[in-house]
Amino acid sequence: MTTIGHFINGENYAENISLNSNKNDTRTQAVYNPATGEVTKQVSLASKQTVEHAIAAAEQAFPAWRNTPAIKRARIMFRFKELLEQNADTICQLIGEEHGKISHDAAGELQRGIENVEFACAAPELLKGEHSKNVGPNIDSWSEFQPLGVVAGITPFNFPAMVPMWMFPLAIVCGNTFVLKPSERDPSSTLLIAQLLKEAGLPDGVINVVNGDKEAVDTLLSDERVKAVSFVGSTPVAESIYSQATTNGKRCQALGGAKNHAIVMPDADMENTVNQLLGAAFGSSGERCMALSVAVAVGDEAADALVERMQKAMQTLAIGDYSNVNNDFGPVITKAHQEKVNGFISSAEQQGAKIAVDGRNPNVVGFENGFFVGATLIDHVSKEMDSYRAEIFGPVLQVVRVKTMEEAMQLINDHEYGNGTCIFTRDGEAARYFSDHIQVGMVGINVPLPVPVAYHSFGGWKRSLFGDLHAYGPDGVRFYTKRKTITQRWPSSGVREGVSFSFPS
Ligand code: NAD
Repeated sequence: MTTIGHFINGENYAENISLNSNKNDTRTQAVYNPATGEVTKQVSLASKQTVEHAIAAAEQAFPAWRNTPAIKRARIMFRFKELLEQNADTICQLIGEEHGKISHDAAGELQRGIENVEFACAAPELLKGEHSKNVGPNIDSWSEFQPLGVVAGITPFNFPAMVPMWMFPLAIVCGNTFVLKPSERDPSSTLLIAQLLKEAGLPDGVINVVNGDKEAVDTLLSDERVKAVSFVGSTPVAESIYSQATTNGKRCQALGGAKNHAIVMPDADMENTVNQLLGAAFGSSGERCMALSVAVAVGDEAADALVERMQKAMQTLAIGDYSNVNNDFGPVITKAHQEKVNGFISSAEQQGAKIAVDGRNPNVVGFENGFFVGATLIDHVSKEMDSYRAEIFGPVLQVVRVKTMEEAMQLINDHEYGNGTCIFTRDGEAARYFSDHIQVGMVGINVPLPVPVAYHSFGGWKRSLFGDLHAYGPDGVRFYTKRKTITQRWPSSGVREGVSFSFPS
């Protein structure tokens, strides 16, 4: 069985080639095909020593890379983009085999990742500083944006190609070197992407990938050569990583979990709303941090119409493995996660909600051992229920019934998460009020998954993001650089300068 290793200093690196000959620690973890439930590969879990080796490679590569003109760094990104497109089928297949998402969904993920590479191609423009001439007699001043050094990225299982590309393309074109710790649950596509960067001409050591778990992460967080950490994953881990990284003096942005609500107003176009909700709630088995997991229906009439239409539409959904493009979504990531999602559905039932469509134990012919949960609709959910408070991260849409839009907005504003939200309405005034006052970082108006494009930035509010700067786009450039402001004077020859003890003005 294949064991997936690491990519360090431009080479595939196997854990059992220990740097310290006394140590031969080869911890591994099973990688599954979630559609069949079978173990298909093993992944090496990097030891502290291996991670330190990757950090050393990144540190060594930094001085030359820092001094490489931004246009040359950008040219590598142009070639990398082409290679991603040429290898798209292989990348999507690896994502499908290990994550389980259907190939059309994997292609969408890859495309959104490529858009971040395209944004990074603008490096010379993005890194232009700010200049002020004659801030005083013969004095000019400018600000420039310098790289930080070695920076690290720690990423989740649900977007093994896209989320790493929220980070390293921009970090690299800004002149940093990078150590990436992808999810150990679906590591292969990320590793291939790093290998393509070498093919694109990236010097060895500029990007390094270490697969692993907490041991690898702890090493990245404690090593003083790592200057900044970008994290995307669940909120408890995000909070802990933010706290450790900042305590250790590192810059950190840690994006966490979500509970994304859609308000369905009585005037919404119900057919369009149902179509939008289907994809946003159940696409990728609901394993998206922007998945819509709660529909807040304003008025019983809207709620009844929504539930009735959803029940009907959900009968048409097809689930199965990644390779059949007619499938709408695939399995969830692990057996344990399947049980967790089923457990939330059962708890909602026990706490008084009504299961309108039950996706527990679906019959997926030919994939009986896969980790499938069918599309589930739960009506009459209330804010005290466990299934409402927690992030389920499965194909489960819950309906909460309220009387007014104010009540709906209060519900959203009171929730601990603030990643994404959306309103379905025909009323421009209501939509404008909603987008202005809702306490959520990414807002859609008749747009169910308002994931910002690469030239804006991505991030939630409240406990969906720890840190000041959002991911990628303009915030990404600021995160991966530090501002230096230079004030310069070249007195005219022959001019003698007097002594002054006053503050310069
Ligand atoms: P996770 O938090 O379990 O893992 C994320 C990363 O952290 C992985 O690389 C993992 O190896 C590492 N990790 C896990 N436990 C750790 C620990 N105790 N100490 C140190 N490192 C640890 O998340 P996941 O299950 O891979 O991904 C799903 C979660 O990610 C969901 O909560 C989802 O909402 C969130 N997510 C958020 C965004 C966003 O932009 N806000 C995007 C995608 C996913």
